[in-house]
Amino acid sequence: MTQANVTDHAAGTTTVCPNCGGRVSYDIHSGTFRCESCRSEIQVETAKDTVDEYSIDGYSMREREGKPLTGVSTAICQSCGGEIYFDAHETAKRCPMCGSAQIRADVATSGVAPEGVVPFRIDAQDAQQRFRKWISRRWFAPNRLKKTYGEGRLEGLYVPCWTYDADTCADYTGQGGRTRTVRGRDGKTRTEIDWYHVSGRVYRSFNDLLVCASKNVTGGLVEKLAPFDTVNNIRPFACEYLSGYKAERYSIDGLQAFERAKEQMARELNSDAESDILSKGYSQSRIYSLSPRFRDVTYKGVLVPMYAAHYGYGGQTYSYAINGQTGKIFGRYPKSVPKILAAVLAGLLLLFGMMYLFSMDDDGHDAYAAAAAQPAYQCIQTVSDLPDGADLAES
Ligand SMILES: [Zn+2]
Ligand SMILES: [Zn+2]
Repeated sequence: MTQANVTDHAAGTTTVCPNCGGRVSYDIHSGTFRCESCRSEIQVETAKDTVDEYSIDGYSMREREGKPLTGVSTAICQSCGGEIYFDAHETAKRCPMCGSAQIRADVATSGVAPEGVVPFRIDAQDAQQRFRKWISRRWFAPNRLKKTYGEGRLEGLYVPCWTYDADTCADYTGQGGRTRTVRGRDGKTRTEIDWYHVSGRVYRSFNDLLVCASKNVTGGLVEKLAPFDTVNNIRPFACEYLSGYKAERYSIDGLQAFERAKEQMARELNSDAESDILSKGYSQSRIYSLSPRFRDVTYKGVLVPMYAAHYGYGGQTYSYAINGQTGKIFGRYPKSVPKILAAVLAGLLLLFGMMYLFSMDDDGHDAYAAAAAQPAYQCIQTVSDLPDGADLAES
C-alpha cells in the first residue's frame, strides 16, 4: 500500500497566468478560466475549438494510435482498478470512485483522449448542502449518520462516458389486436381480442445517447443522475478543467459501450414499433421480431461532472453521488434497524387500534372481543346442523 507519489508527466503543458505565474483553473461561478492567485481571467488554449464526433468505423485505429494524455498526472486504484487523472500539481490520496487509499502512481494508458467536458456548475459547498437536506429527509437513516455525514468527504469527479449519434431503422413483425365485447350464454359480457398479423418499418435518429464508460462507477449511477447536457453545455477538453477535481479514464471502450448503446436504441425502436401498430387502428400490440440497423454512427468521449462521497457505517461502505451540472442526487444509505422496528410496531398498533374501533357496535358493545371469545368450531357445527338435502348454494 503506497500513497501516490506522482510524477508530473507534462506539467509544463498546463497554462500559467501570464500576469503573475499563478495556477489557472476553471471557475464554476463565472464559467471561465481564472488565475488562482490574481483572479484574472485567462484564455486557455485547447487543442481544438470544437467538440467533434468521429465515425465508429475508425474507432479501433484511434484506440491503437492514441497517445497518453499530456498535462495530467495519473494513478491506478489497486482496489477498484480505476485509472485516475488529476491535475499535475496535485497528489491523489484516495480513489474518487471507491474511496480506497490504495492507489499508486502509474504510467498513463494511451487510447482515445476525451473530446469534451461538461463543466461543473455546482460547487462542493452547494453539493454538501444538498446532501445534508437529502439525508435529513431520509427518515430511516440512523441519527448518527445524519450528524456525521460531513465525514464522507465530497470529491468532484469527472466520469468518462461515450455519446453516440445514429440514424436507425428497424423492420418489425408483430400483431395488432382489436377488442370486441361478446355476451356469453350466461348473459354476462366479456371482451375478446382478435389478433391480426402486422409488419412495418420504423425510423429514429439518436443524438448524444450517453453510455457510462467506467466499470467502477457502478449501479447505473450515471443513468440515475442523468441527464447531463452533452449537446449544448459541452466544451473542448482542457487539462485545466481537472484542477481541484479528479477524472477517470474510460475502462469500457467505445466499441464495448456501443453494444450497450445499440441495446438502448433497440428498446426505443421496439416501443416505436408498438406505437406504429397502434397508429394503424389497433388497440393492442405485440412485437415478434425486430431487426434494427444502425447507420452513420458517430461517437465522442466526454467527461461528465459528479460529486461522490463514501462513508463507512456499521462496517460497510455506502456511496452517494450528485450530478455536478444539475444537482440531482442519488445514494444508498444504511437503514436504522431500531427505527424500522419502531415503524413496524407503530403500524401494527395503528392497525389493531383501527380494527378495535371498527368492531365497536353502536352501543359501544365490543363485538370484536365477543367474536374472539366464540370458539371457532361453532361455525362448523352450524353447517353440519343443516337438514339433510339442504342446498347450500341457495340458502
Ligand atoms: Zn495571476
Ligand atoms: Zn478505486
